[in-house]
Amino acid sequence: MKAWSRRKFFLTTLAGGMAASAQKLFGATVRSVNATAPSEDEGAPEPVPAQANAARGTRPLIVCAANGFQHLDKGMDILKKGGDTLDAVLAIVVEVENDPNDNSVGYGGLPNEEGEVELDAQVMHGPTRRAGAVGALKKIKNASLVAKCVMEKTDHIFIVGDGATRFAIAEGFAPMDLLTPKSREAWLRWKAKSSPFWAPGIDSPNWSYPAAENHDSPEKQELEEWFRHVVAHPPTGTINCLAVDAKGDISGTTTTSGMAWKIPGRVGDSPIIGAGNYVDNEVGAAGSTGRGEENIRVCGAHTVVEMMRKGMPPADACLEALQRISHNFKGDKTRLTEFAIQFYALNKDGVHGGATLWGPAPGTTANYAIHDGASAKQMPFKALFDYASKPTPKTPQ
Ligand code: ASP
Repeated sequence: MKAWSRRKFFLTTLAGGMAASAQKLFGATVRSVNATAPSEDEGAPEPVPAQANAARGTRPLIVCAANGFQHLDKGMDILKKGGDTLDAVLAIVVEVENDPNDNSVGYGGLPNEEGEVELDAQVMHGPTRRAGAVGALKKIKNASLVAKCVMEKTDHIFIVGDGATRFAIAEGFAPMDLLTPKSREAWLRWKAKSSPFWAPGIDSPNWSYPAAENHDSPEKQELEEWFRHVVAHPPTGTINCLAVDAKGDISGTTTTSGMAWKIPGRVGDSPIIGAGNYVDNEVGAAGSTGRGEENIRVCGAHTVVEMMRKGMPPADACLEALQRISHNFKGDKTRLTEFAIQFYALNKDGVHGGATLWGPAPGTTANYAIHDGASAKQMPFKALFDYASKPTPKTPQ
């Protein structure tokens, strides 16, 4: 790639050019230290300039979405015993896939419009530079492990739909119903909202106006509130998990049940290499949760890793990906209130960062989770936009 190196591609595609000492991308500034990095044209691999990061890193390190917080110790134990980074991240996300109370991942994930849970997942193993992925996988709860199996046992990278389910069963994964009573009820409520024929008829003793529902306990009230919310606002969820070990080897995975009530066969960003997750063992790793359609359009995780390659600290690289999403909407903040999206990143030095589109409402927090070898911790996201600048959404929230 001499004549058209990544560096040249990067420079030529950013219209307007960049000053050598303080290069401005769409939203973030590339640190000047990077200007001294040797180029590929000179035949040297491009190192991550450790001094580019104000914060000092720590290895081993695990970064993940907040829903993995309580399982981080499992992954760190593996890393401390010298285990593989992919095994570490999978040990964490498998717990979330198995959890019936996480309605965005694996068993208990909210289903598609036909009431079938369809899972998307991918893995990337930095040291061997391999990847595996599954999309719209049905009936198998541990999509991340099936993705690893695609990576290890096939000559393919991405298997989808019924083929993915058949592949998993052939490899010994047990098929099961992925709906829980709660997720099935949520789907039936959503059906009833869309069609009067999916609720008891006017001749039934169970017929009622929605407003006349009897909430007999606080737990029931809370459940009813949750049903109302997920029916009106199809939730997203997902877990992305990234790890760097003491030697600097890196892996990442993302696994999800995707967007609730989606059209069957819809695949989000999570299993797409470079969108929902990306690892370059010489640079770092990044991943995303939130509205996949927006992430796919900016190849978010790959963008974050490429920014880190140029010397950006992980959090700023995450903000750059969010800035590109904003740019796709010409910065229209009213439209940008209609969805949520987050990026997570770590670099080879063990510096981490995370960013979200909107800052949290006053009195609330928006965090990602890390384990730095000492303990699991919640870390506040950086936000592209302050909550104070958020217009009132046009659709009721
Ligand atoms: N990114 C996932 C998707 O679009 C959903 C999510 O993260 O909430 O399928």
